[in-house]
Amino acid sequence: MRNPPGTTAVWIAPTATRFSCLCEPCLDLEDGNGLPVLEVVGGANVRGTLALDHDVGIVRCPAGHELVVRRRPASRRSHRSATMRLVAIRGGLGA
Ligand SMILES: [Zn+2]
Repeated sequence: MRNPPGTTAVWIAPTATRFSCLCEPCLDLEDGNGLPVLEVVGGANVRGTLALDHDVGIVRCPAGHELVVRRRPASRRSHRSATMRLVAIRGGLGA
């Protein structure tokens, strides 16, 4: 999925309510400016929260770049297959 120009998407885990990420535009701007790496990364660090009942949020870095925070959908298929395996094991033990 490509981001529209000027926005950066940040994907967080299905159950995450807090996140910390780096602003890519800030990293790009400072790339090659000769600043120490830790200083560049520290300046691009963005923290925020996203309530569990929200799938999308918007946060701005200290420089004002807009970051779109998106919640990854929970994987239903892997949960179902784990449940089916458990049922199969129980069935085997009970026979
Ligand atoms: Zn930024």
